[in-house]
Amino acid sequence: MTSNLFDLTGKLALVTGSSQGIGLALARGLIEAGARVVLNGRDPARLAAAAAGLGDGVVSPADGIGAFDVTDPDAVEAAIARIEAKCGAIEILVNNAGIQRRTTLEEFPVETWREVMRTNLDSVFFVGQAVARRMIPRGRGKIINIASLQSEAARPTIAPYTASKGAVKMLTRGMCADWAKHGLQINAIGPGYFDTELNRPLRENPVFDAWLRGRTPAGRWGRVEELCGAAVFLASRASDFVNGQVIYVDGGVLSVL
Ligand code: NDP
Repeated sequence: MTSNLFDLTGKLALVTGSSQGIGLALARGLIEAGARVVLNGRDPARLAAAAAGLGDGVVSPADGIGAFDVTDPDAVEAAIARIEAKCGAIEILVNNAGIQRRTTLEEFPVETWREVMRTNLDSVFFVGQAVARRMIPRGRGKIINIASLQSEAARPTIAPYTASKGAVKMLTRGMCADWAKHGLQINAIGPGYFDTELNRPLRENPVFDAWLRGRTPAGRWGRVEELCGAAVFLASRASDFVNGQVIYVDGGVLSVL
């Protein structure tokens, strides 16, 4: 009985930014729990390669259905309409697409600031609104925003990223404030440090690598598949009265000084 709480059989999920890294791992985790998943990214070839490794649960990207830019509100609306027309109602949305740009704040170019905000924050509003407008009349839906350890804590050279992820935390609460009464659950996952392309410069920096292992109670980097438990929980019936929360999956970093 308890295990059924986490069953996602037949549910359609859209995971943004899922051609690699955390998004791809979350797509795999949702599929393992029974969901059908539409992958998203800007590059159709990379999407096709990612889909090839996922088996039956992935909705075929052969027609480019999931290839769209989450920072373009018109493209987002058109894509969500297309996905719902072809594949059915989106019951789970994971707003995962995001980028990192590192430069000291006094040197940070204005256009790069805008790129970070567009990709990490505006997209959560654009895709969240387009999907929620369809979930609301149906009276149900699960939205999971990918926040960050940086929703709580800053580090040098990534102030814009930190600002964007702090805003994702508060947008999650704002979505909860407006949409919970319609039967939607909107929560966030705050990953700590995971070994993905986004963090390659940090992984390749022995000083940072040693600092992080010392700073993390678990003593290591996260493995992307370790985010799936929180995602399946927040996508499933098990979290039907959980709303506006951020679950930090960080090996304990935020719990210690
Ligand atoms: P990656 O760089 O490995 O992957 C990012 C994904 O997003 C790619 O699939 C990329 O595909 C897609 N993407 C980027 N821009 C857009 C866009 N405009 N429209 C559609 N898709 C886009 O990143 P991670 O997997 O490391 O990060 C995923 C999320 O997790 C991000 O929000 C990140 O901030 C967050 N996070 C990551 C942590 C980590 O330790 N790695 C820690 C905390 C949070 P394409 O370029 O082809 O469009």
